[in-house]
Amino acid sequence: MAKKKPLAIVIHGGAGPDSDHIHENRKGYEDGIKEAVEAGYKILEEGGSAVDAVEAAVIKLENNPLFNAGRGSALNANGEVEMDAAIMRGDDQASGAVALIRNIRNPVSLAKAVMMNTKYRFLGDMGALEYAKKIDIRMEPSSYFITEHQFDAFSKKRQEEFTSSDRIGMDQLNARMHGTVGAVALDRDGNVAAATSTGGTENKKMGRIGDSCVIGVGCYAKNNTCAISGTGDGELLIKNIIAYDISALMEYKGLTLQQACEEVVLKRVKKDEGDVGVIGVDGDGNIALVFNSERMHRGWKTSNRQQGIEIYATKK
Ligand code: ASP
Repeated sequence: MAKKKPLAIVIHGGAGPDSDHIHENRKGYEDGIKEAVEAGYKILEEGGSAVDAVEAAVIKLENNPLFNAGRGSALNANGEVEMDAAIMRGDDQASGAVALIRNIRNPVSLAKAVMMNTKYRFLGDMGALEYAKKIDIRMEPSSYFITEHQFDAFSKKRQEEFTSSDRIGMDQLNARMHGTVGAVALDRDGNVAAATSTGGTENKKMGRIGDSCVIGVGCYAKNNTCAISGTGDGELLIKNIIAYDISALMEYKGLTLQQACEEVVLKRVKKDEGDVGVIGVDGDGNIALVFNSERMHRGWKTSNRQQGIEIYATKK
């Protein structure tokens, strides 16, 4: 009898510092992670593609106000939501990405539409919006995206800005809080895919684009190596071309997925430079979840019975 092909999905809900908000909402976060993992895994089990699985998982997280993507996105220094997202499939390395997106309920689906239906790879700002309207993708009013938690964080910063003696701009104020959501999957046909979606860093300058929508940095997929979704300080991920570097270490140096993730996240990036977290899957169904931060919301499920939900580092 032919051996059954492995299936796997891994999701993350952002890596970064711990906070009271996380402790107060721990159950909600865990339920949200579980829901996303199950949504993606169900598609894989039914024979669906890795691309559809990562999209489904990310949509759940974008719709969940606790996570910094879609509804619940961090506010920029002008108090507005601007979102970035990307998706990539590992068999032909097609990808789609969108940046500085407003009012799109599910940026990951717009990124997927760019990948599937256009000759382009990356659409930004007004052009992306124009395309979204053309394909009738679901839009929401700006108020839909702004949660009480994010508005409170914004108001606190605003207060700091007005009380600071040198009147520095909002985006100059130190804001370590951030988040992102992402998923990687392996389907029955042996194809891997990755998707990443974010509201970006809290208090960011209007027009700032992070790593999440940059192919090779916050999102990457190649069948003979791995699929990776990243999170953390976007500028640091961009500097280190995180996702592609992991894939290249596997391809050119023969490292395993786990070794490559550890090499990049724990050795090449210095811990005091900032937060970095990645999730990955390879063509054999091996998974990796590696981060240098206090926490990375994460969940996983594979056909060889690995399953879990974690927020903080696991004690060894
Ligand atoms: N990487 C995201 C960004 O910089 C934020 C995060 O993952 O926490 O936009």
